[in-house]
Amino acid sequence: MAAPPRLFRTVGVVLRRRDFDEADRLITVLTRDRGKLRLLAKGARKISSRKAAHVDLFRQVDLLVHQGRTFGVVSQAETVHPFAGLAEDLERLAAAHYLADLTDTFVGEGDTAAGVYDLLVEALQWLESGCDPKLAQRYFELHLLDLEGYRPELYRCPGCGEWLEEQVNLFDFAEGSMVCPNCAEGRGQGRRVSVGAQKVLRFLQRSAVTDCGLLRLSDGLHTEIEGLLGDYIRSVVEWPPRSRRFIETVQRLPEQ
Ligand SMILES: [Zn+2]
Repeated sequence: MAAPPRLFRTVGVVLRRRDFDEADRLITVLTRDRGKLRLLAKGARKISSRKAAHVDLFRQVDLLVHQGRTFGVVSQAETVHPFAGLAEDLERLAAAHYLADLTDTFVGEGDTAAGVYDLLVEALQWLESGCDPKLAQRYFELHLLDLEGYRPELYRCPGCGEWLEEQVNLFDFAEGSMVCPNCAEGRGQGRRVSVGAQKVLRFLQRSAVTDCGLLRLSDGLHTEIEGLLGDYIRSVVEWPPRSRRFIETVQRLPEQ
């Protein structure tokens, strides 16, 4: 005998959306209480659909879901927060795509994700408020790595156990840690990290979003930190997803 239909309510952020059959959409949603869900939004591609706008990308949405055999099916959807401000600026929008893809990559179905959910909402709010989109991405990367068990060690060298001095140290990707120049010699790998970049990384890692708003970085520091964290992320997960290429295309566009 078939199991009785299960109905549940949850709140989540839409990470991904793709067309399914003629009129439907499959959406990937990160929820606080149920982790990552793949849901079917029937009729969401029809212009007349009431559901369509509510299951747009990056929306925080209140969902009533009917658990079917293959997918949960969205019965009702109401927007909690539209994050409409993200669409006003291409660089902000590209950054939101990146955060969503990174989340989708790190969080598996069935994983608990309350911490990542809170981080994502916080970062999207910060992005929407008009912060430096690059800073929001670096903040998100550092804190996501932390939540997923890959917190970069930025203070103590794992080789000799000493506190790292204020000098150019190296980041060892396999170790997930900064190492002092002495210990780095024998390892033959790693990436040099300037004193300025170390300070910014430590600040971002230990601070809340509210403390990061006043940070202003030079283009050089931005590039260094983006490269370092990007390489580290590539060393722990399969990367990059499509949004990375989108961001690079946006950054190459002439100023308007
Ligand atoms: Zn050392």
